[in-house]
Amino acid sequence: MQETRFIHIAQQYKAVFFDSYGVLKNYKGLIEGAQATLNHLRDREISIRVLTNDASRSQEQQADSFARLGLSGIHPDEIVTSGMMAKHFLEQKIREGKIAYLGTENSAQYILQSGLEHIAVRDIDLEDLDAISAFVFLDDEGFDWNIDISKTVNILRRKVIPVIVANSDRVYPVSRNDVSIATGGIAELVENMLNKKFIHFGKPDSQMFIYAFDQLNRSVTVAKEDILMVGDTLHTDILGGNRFGLDTILVLSGNTRKESAANLIESTGIIPDYICPSIAL
Ligand SMILES: [Mg+2]
Repeated sequence: MQETRFIHIAQQYKAVFFDSYGVLKNYKGLIEGAQATLNHLRDREISIRVLTNDASRSQEQQADSFARLGLSGIHPDEIVTSGMMAKHFLEQKIREGKIAYLGTENSAQYILQSGLEHIAVRDIDLEDLDAISAFVFLDDEGFDWNIDISKTVNILRRKVIPVIVANSDRVYPVSRNDVSIATGGIAELVENMLNKKFIHFGKPDSQMFIYAFDQLNRSVTVAKEDILMVGDTLHTDILGGNRFGLDTILVLSGNTRKESAANLIESTGIIPDYICPSIAL
């Protein structure tokens, strides 16, 4: 593991998988130099995919949001979200009843458009849970934290149903020093209280890597050793990439701060192949 410039490493690969938040963009907007790096990779015909633990927006909405920030040339098909994986799972496995959810109406419409009815936790009558057939943690917004998290605990105490976590991130950065609790963090809190295990989607689990790898290999032939995974978070991006058998590079432009990177790597045992300050050329 050595600290180096991003592009020197990236140009040795046939494909680069980027995490989104903390890598391509952050709370301030685009990461400086993101467009130049993307152009550089495109010029060398290096394939790009964006793998994001985000269940709040569709691929098209994600691509639009990159474009609005000023990053052009990312196609919706190049974006893989944990929400897509959760959506697919629900379509395959939940055939009847109503799907209860914690999150925004937008995320519910995107993830839960499988023909089944969905219902926000706030609208659920605790005395009438018969029709509820699954529960989904979708997003950290769109509900009352005081009321609806307790209500969630009560629903899941009363009813034994599959519980899906559509984004397993625990926290996300909101400023240089601070984070906000993400969906995965809320779900873990409830799991611990109920002593239950939910079904988690998103990195570090391999579903998104498998999807991106298979989809990529429909247009070009790329082996795992030809792919570099770029991420700012050890226990999602780097762990997931390492487990899937990809080379990994930790960028210090997001969740992992330069001052604590070495300690974190040592204490977690999650070791990236490379470290660099950001994806800037
Ligand atoms: Mg990130």
